[in-house]
Amino acid sequence: MLKGKVALVTGSTSGIGFGMARALAQQGCAVMLNGFGDAAAIEETRSGLAAETGVTVRYNGADLGKPDEIAAMVADTVQSLGSIDILINNAGIQHTAPVDEFPTAVWDKIIAIMLTGPFHAIRCALPHMKQKNWGRIINTSSVHGLVGSVNKAAYVSAKHGIMGLTKVVALETGPTGITCNSINPGFVQTELVKQQIQQRADAIGGSFDDAVVDVLKEKQPSLDFITVDQIGALCVFLCSDAAAQITGVPMSIDGGWTAQ
Ligand code: NAD
Repeated sequence: MLKGKVALVTGSTSGIGFGMARALAQQGCAVMLNGFGDAAAIEETRSGLAAETGVTVRYNGADLGKPDEIAAMVADTVQSLGSIDILINNAGIQHTAPVDEFPTAVWDKIIAIMLTGPFHAIRCALPHMKQKNWGRIINTSSVHGLVGSVNKAAYVSAKHGIMGLTKVVALETGPTGITCNSINPGFVQTELVKQQIQQRADAIGGSFDDAVVDVLKEKQPSLDFITVDQIGALCVFLCSDAAAQITGVPMSIDGGWTAQ
């Protein structure tokens, strides 16, 4: 379905980003991976995805906290893969602390990677999409783009902020073939969330599995994790012609979290 298209997926060396990159590659889309990690492991991921899907998969290690590196990554995508048709702003980190104890440098880093970084990626990618009058921009927000939780001031602020950016980009690209939406997941059991589950296990003095039950019961009525494959499928749908009139909206995939 996406044969001939090119996608840049930030933060795709693991977790949700890799799930979306894989789902797009399975539809024939060439992919630029991005994110941190061990160089040999990243190369294994890149070559494995290329072998599995038969599409061209490249990697650019830009730091989403650095505007110059983001601009160079978009240029690299266009130069090495021929265009940039799909941009997935997904890279993210987490830090938990009460507001009055929140380290200010960590606040700056989270806003830089998760809000300012996507602005720069969109700013640089849009002219290429406008040239072809087709594009899909998907911002990985979160349930925390719609509701708050204690001890996540920077994360919740960045995720709410990207909802605003999503709406403005959708309005500005309204009459074009470009759409801009967010995906708003609840708990997905990736490295980012495993750290939080371990913190809960330590706090309740229980096992990791005890903490899983505790965390899901508190927030996610389905009492189950969302999978990266389910998010990948939603991403493919948003890139399809069937979704051409869906723009500027949050696509919740949260097991009922925000219905409460
Ligand atoms: P993850 O830790 O598996 O993936 C994060 C990715 O971002 C990795 O590839 C990492 O290398 C990359 N990254 C981190 N800092 C970076 C930087 N400065 N520059 C470039 N890449 C960087 O976690 P995940 O859960 O897959 O998170 C992916 C996105 O999904 C994040 O935006 C996160 O906020 C969001 N999200 C996660 C959940 C969840 O439950 N896991 C829920 C809602 C939203």
